[in-house]
Amino acid sequence: MNVLLIGSGGREHALAWALSKSSLLKKLWAAPGNAGIAEIAKCMPLDVTDHAAVIAFCKANDIGLVVVGPEAPLVAGMVDDLDKAGIRAFGPTAAAAQLEGSKAFMKDLCSRYGIPTAAYGVFTDAEAAKSFVRTEGAPIVVKADGLAAGKGVIIAQTVAEAEAAIDDMLAGAFGEAGARVVIEEFMEGEEASFFAICDGRTALPLATAQDHKRAHDGDTGPNTGGMGAYSPAPVMTEELCRRAMDEIVTPTMTAMRTEGMPFSGILYAGLMITEKGPRLLEYNVRFGDPEAQVLMMRLQDDLLLLILGALDQSLDSRSIHWRSEPALTVVMASRGYPGTYEKGTVIGNVADAAAMDSVAVFHAGTARDGDVLTATGGRVLNVTALGRDIREAQMRAYAAVDLIDWPDGFCRRDIGWRAVERETPVT
Ligand code: AMP
Repeated sequence: MNVLLIGSGGREHALAWALSKSSLLKKLWAAPGNAGIAEIAKCMPLDVTDHAAVIAFCKANDIGLVVVGPEAPLVAGMVDDLDKAGIRAFGPTAAAAQLEGSKAFMKDLCSRYGIPTAAYGVFTDAEAAKSFVRTEGAPIVVKADGLAAGKGVIIAQTVAEAEAAIDDMLAGAFGEAGARVVIEEFMEGEEASFFAICDGRTALPLATAQDHKRAHDGDTGPNTGGMGAYSPAPVMTEELCRRAMDEIVTPTMTAMRTEGMPFSGILYAGLMITEKGPRLLEYNVRFGDPEAQVLMMRLQDDLLLLILGALDQSLDSRSIHWRSEPALTVVMASRGYPGTYEKGTVIGNVADAAAMDSVAVFHAGTARDGDVLTATGGRVLNVTALGRDIREAQMRAYAAVDLIDWPDGFCRRDIGWRAVERETPVT
């Protein structure tokens, strides 16, 4: 089967890597892809916002399956358009993608179906929103309703801070995404990510992960798309995984079916593990980036077969196998990220790092000009390793990072610290 993968990040390189191992794969294409993906797939500079162009490409190249990596094309209805054109695509429809595309949609669904999440209100009027904040008190969370690339969330420590965030958002600081604001109760606990693959009827748990959103060591500095991750998340005991499925993921699948928009694709629940158990923070309707990198490193099954199982609605007869070893990924970013940074800086020695035992280097923002690899984005490389425990995976990942010659790049040096502190070292 010929497969087209949509996206250009480290997540897509990890997915391409997993897909490329499938016995069912004939040819893998990626649009637009990156320099790492180009080593295992044929990259096409398609404009993926132009669905007609994607459909024409699929027809011309006998594409049997399209796998959509990022959320934006899903929310924009790429899967709906491909379906209409008779091309099989993995990912939710635009209606089902609202679970990520609109926080108000997600919160209203949870409230109607009793799915545990923070108490909330949805507002378009600043005065009404502020009055809600004054009644609830601080700390309190102010969120832009729509997609804001992970930036539309303000944890306000005071009522005044929350009021300022409301004014900012409704005044257009996040464009259309902030035309409605969601105000939420502040939940305390440890965060974890829980992934499931869904076929519209059945959800099968995948694995858990934790990520580091802040730019600098000690979880300080500005928020980013993610500076590193590891899987599994030690906080997610078997009992908590069972509760996450029974109390959150499965009821969501049922709710979406009942509402006439069955969810098919990857459901990624951002959870807060509170004293009372798992509570839903947010839904994403695709793999996380960099969580996909650690998940793909641990997946033992054929990803393509699994995806086809979801499209055939046969997940109920499947089980998924994972390496017991944890995986950890360190994101290398351009110096200055998430603020301004230089593009086109030269990266050396990636091949040596990638050749290390139990290591894979996934590319995000890279391009190749002849033999020269350059950085084209903020997050650039994801150095990923397996280990007998998280400490060993961490040691291996940083040993590989240290082989890479990129004076204009940086990474955090403490990815996985919380998990390592919890571990009893393997002897
Ligand atoms: P979200 O994009 O909704 O997941 O929010 C981004 C981050 O903000 C989360 O990963 C949490 O760290 C934090 N956050 C969001 N909502 C809440 C909440 N209700 N209580 C506490 N922290 C929150």
